[in-house]
Amino acid sequence: MKQIQVGTARGQAGARTEGVLKVGVLPDARPVELPVIVMQGPGDGPVLWLQGCIHGNEQCGTFVIHRFLAGLDLSKLKGAVIALPVLNLTAFQFNRRTSPFEIYHGGDLNRVFPGDPGGNFTQQMAHVIFQALVGNADCMVDFHTAHLKETRWALFTNLPGAVGKRAERMARAWGYVPTFPTPPTTLTGAAYMQAATKHGIPGLIVECGGKGPAFDEAAVADGAERLRNVARALGMIEEPVTRHEGVHYVSDFAWVRGRSGGLYRNLVEPGQRIKKGQVIGKLFDIFGKPRESVRAPEGGFVLTVNPGPLLISGDTLIHIGLNPRPAPAL
Ligand SMILES: [Zn+2]
Repeated sequence: MKQIQVGTARGQAGARTEGVLKVGVLPDARPVELPVIVMQGPGDGPVLWLQGCIHGNEQCGTFVIHRFLAGLDLSKLKGAVIALPVLNLTAFQFNRRTSPFEIYHGGDLNRVFPGDPGGNFTQQMAHVIFQALVGNADCMVDFHTAHLKETRWALFTNLPGAVGKRAERMARAWGYVPTFPTPPTTLTGAAYMQAATKHGIPGLIVECGGKGPAFDEAAVADGAERLRNVARALGMIEEPVTRHEGVHYVSDFAWVRGRSGGLYRNLVEPGQRIKKGQVIGKLFDIFGKPRESVRAPEGGFVLTVNPGPLLISGDTLIHIGLNPRPAPAL
């Protein structure tokens, strides 16, 4: 197996090693160092890259990664796992989506890959992370959450040939019901898409559980088991692969923004099938009078939803997975 090296973390056959990857320097001249865990089995196999908290307030993935690693039997592992449980460290420290040091630039780490060594703080960080990713990994999983604890959907890099096929096998082993085979023209600045299109590294994004008070144990336990199933499907763990029933592919997604603001009562939940024109929520004014029944502009799966109760005009109301169809047999 090739030598794994991510920052100071160096792979060692049959061992768990830890280290840090320096991605920047703070105003007090201390380094920004991301935690890195490498678990390498005694035998050859794929190198699976895991990254949590690319959005600093989406912590479910960090816990899924920890749970998955704790359940691994190193002596039986084929290949290796490289885990970065917290990618956007300064955002994580302040429980924010983006770094507090990105005042002027937006700084969404999930939109700037492959990064830029001469760019802003987030672009430089992305560059260092991406070099480590493509220099070491064979496949990857990137963890996210949304508003509600019931959030469960996934995206895989849908490309022709072996890369797309492997990504699809990983996605089916993960097995969330709404799954989006993502074309290379969508989410082009996301790490999983850059890694797949430019370097032949297949990958998933999983939207697993909720952020803030919507964090819950069920999403973590379920995610860790699904991740183990991905490792089985990749041949890293010799156990039968669980076949998840009911997986549907969506053709695209639609972010729907509200035209009006007010007190909002949400009426749908993640995973629900909705029809075009269906009432998805109700808006009230500050005197308590009903103002509007908000209707879905498209049908499909509810992927993410704004739980309210406060809505400003222009807020994202709902994220809909369009045109669901049963996934083909593999
Ligand atoms: Zn996210």
